[in-house]
Amino acid sequence: MDIRIEGVSKSFGPTVALESVDLRVPSGQLATLLGSSGCGKTTLLRIIAGFEQADGGSIRFGERDIARVPVWKRNIGFVFQSYALWPHMTVEENVAYGLRLRKQPKDEIRDKVAKGLAMVGLTGREQRRPGQLSGGQQQRVALARALALEPDVLLMDEPLSNLDAKLRVEMRREIRRIQQETGITAIYVTHDQDEALEISDVVAVMNGGNVEQIGTPEQIYDEPRTTFVASFVGSVSLLQGRVSAGALQLGSGDKIAFDGPLGAEGQDVHVAIRPEDLLLVESDAQFTGKVLHSSFQGSSRESVAELPGGQHVTFEHRRPLATGSTVGLTAERFTVIVKDTGVA
Ligand code: ATP
Repeated sequence: MDIRIEGVSKSFGPTVALESVDLRVPSGQLATLLGSSGCGKTTLLRIIAGFEQADGGSIRFGERDIARVPVWKRNIGFVFQSYALWPHMTVEENVAYGLRLRKQPKDEIRDKVAKGLAMVGLTGREQRRPGQLSGGQQQRVALARALALEPDVLLMDEPLSNLDAKLRVEMRREIRRIQQETGITAIYVTHDQDEALEISDVVAVMNGGNVEQIGTPEQIYDEPRTTFVASFVGSVSLLQGRVSAGALQLGSGDKIAFDGPLGAEGQDVHVAIRPEDLLLVESDAQFTGKVLHSSFQGSSRESVAELPGGQHVTFEHRRPLATGSTVGLTAERFTVIVKDTGVA
């Protein structure tokens, strides 16, 4: 079931939570809404679920306009950050709850609960209560409960935020596996860029109530279209200047010639370079910089250098570098960004 959102807006009194959001999630894909606190991602998810009413715009599940359809008729599954399990019920009863409300036959409920618990790896824990399970297991129960209803759409609001770092990585892979196995269309809210890059078919990066860019994880990382997206997803150096005779004229009067087009003459641009694409070179450097600091990160080192005009760049390398030394650098890849939406 594909999801199409057009022009969705929402304000809470004077606070504009969503300006005008467009988003399309093709059937069977997982889309993440990625952004920092307050960007509107939870509000958008809650509007899609029906917990919140939009002020304007349309939401379609397939051909069906659901903007005025109440939550219980939308056929969605929702997974909350806080799990929201009933503490007095067993695992089995929690998963069966929605099915019982729908008055499904008993043996069908038993089968669906067993299937759901097998999918999330909790077979054998049917009689436990939520309090006897770890956080990760509780979230698995919540996921099984949402999926047991065979929803058209699965919505997840920061489902892994309460788990420790290692378990988060494990669980996000599990969620992705289950989403792919069931082929369900899913929307996943997170502020964690690694999570978004790893599990998504589509990432929508949100900023100030707008979707700034929608694309595959590769497009978002490799071809950011705004300075905000470039800086929010991964580490980046943003060199600011004006295109002059095919080179980047920095404010200081220094020029950097890049190996590729920078855009129209006279245009103000940012050149975004990922640390792994900025190479330390002995000769034929595009520019030089003075090393400000270096940090050892195990598999590599990451250093920051200051260019003569005062702008900073971050690059990865292997051998140790002395603070204050001058280094030659060349960008193996870069992206030219015309739209300055600030930095994250
Ligand atoms: P977080 O990750 O912190 O949950 P978010 O990106 O999900 O952030 P939202 O919760 O969607 O952001 O909030 C967007 C904006 O709308 C914020 O400025 C928030 O304070 C405001 N807001 C959200 N819900 C309400 C509400 N019920 N009443 C008033 N303001 C609200």
